[in-house]
Amino acid sequence: MTAPRDRLLGWIEGERERQVALLRSLTRIDTSNPPGDTRAAADLVSRFLAEEGASWRTEAPRPEMPNLVSTFASRGAGRHLVLNGHLDVFPPGDPAAWSRDPFSGDLADGRVHGRGAVDMNCGTTALLFAHAYLHRLRNELPGRVTLTVVSDEETGGRWGSGWLTERCGDEVLGDCVLNTEPSGLGTVRFGEKSMLWFRFTVEGPGGHSAYPHTGASANRLAAHLVRDLETIESKAPDEPSVVREALDRPEVRAAIEASLGAGAAEVMRRVSVNVGTVHGGVSINMLPAKCVLDVDFRLPVGISRDEVRGEVASIAGRHEGVRFEELDTGDIEANWSDPGHEMVGHLVRNAGAGPRGVTPRPVVGLGGTDTRFWRARGVPAFVHGCSPAGMGAADESVSIEEFHHVLRTHALAAFDYLTA
Ligand SMILES: [Zn+2]
Repeated sequence: MTAPRDRLLGWIEGERERQVALLRSLTRIDTSNPPGDTRAAADLVSRFLAEEGASWRTEAPRPEMPNLVSTFASRGAGRHLVLNGHLDVFPPGDPAAWSRDPFSGDLADGRVHGRGAVDMNCGTTALLFAHAYLHRLRNELPGRVTLTVVSDEETGGRWGSGWLTERCGDEVLGDCVLNTEPSGLGTVRFGEKSMLWFRFTVEGPGGHSAYPHTGASANRLAAHLVRDLETIESKAPDEPSVVREALDRPEVRAAIEASLGAGAAEVMRRVSVNVGTVHGGVSINMLPAKCVLDVDFRLPVGISRDEVRGEVASIAGRHEGVRFEELDTGDIEANWSDPGHEMVGHLVRNAGAGPRGVTPRPVVGLGGTDTRFWRARGVPAFVHGCSPAGMGAADESVSIEEFHHVLRTHALAAFDYLTA
């Protein structure tokens, strides 16, 4: 009989049509979040697992947002590998902006088209096949594999991965996590920044535009506040040495800029401040009495949420008429797993040996993924997926070649991790 790894490679290469067909079927299902109803997509995944003879159960704290957990123990003791992907997608927005039906699942120009094709139907489908293929080899592999296919990722994960890691930890925490969110083939994400949101309310007496000497404008006070909040961007992070050394490498910096655009290598390692909304004033010829600002801070590895909370409080205290509240974003620090972890090696080696021949570099993600829930509980988690270009935009589409590369890389890395 052929060696297990060769059989795995045979399925990866021999079942391309079935792999693409499942990706297209998933993309034809509208799982827009909000509202985040993923039941039809979960049914599709269930049918696929049933075809493969794999067992699963549903954990649904919100009935319309089911999470599927499929686990199997292999031959004898070993490591517990967890695979994590989500079913919900961003809403398509104005359908007129699309050149096709946003949920067409069309195959054209070597790409599958539709909302969610990139984020992250492609990645979730890749993990479904990786799981199915490992399941076929279960009598020949050591350890355990658990697939978690979740809902509610795009709106915070409380009813998805957040719920599973908190309530079903024995089942889903495992020893290591693979996730296929779009990262770009040139990177493996071993960590990600933290998100901290505040609402500032600035109030003044108001009055007539022509009489500024009678009272301050809340909008002008808000502008001064913003200028001071932006000074937090220059705060130096206290990076753990393994993170600093990984991100300092010139080839890593080049991969970051190639994957995320010029300037990304610097943004990755500092706080960024975005005033997402400003609501102030009633009329052009009045001194505004009130201005409300919603401000999004993204914190790099090495700057804690409490440090930024402290700076925000101290800056707000120096400005008259300002009060503020923190908005709920969960409470997870910027998080990282060891960039020298064995799994990074498996991903890098298998990606580099694939037909695309791209060697990914370990980086920190600018945005968030569900992997933070595992890292927050001390479980190493790594993200490698297709190019993020076009995700969440009109005419989202994913390259079949990239999809296949991601599927192959994860299936082989998972196999190598279990058998190492
Ligand atoms: Zn995603």
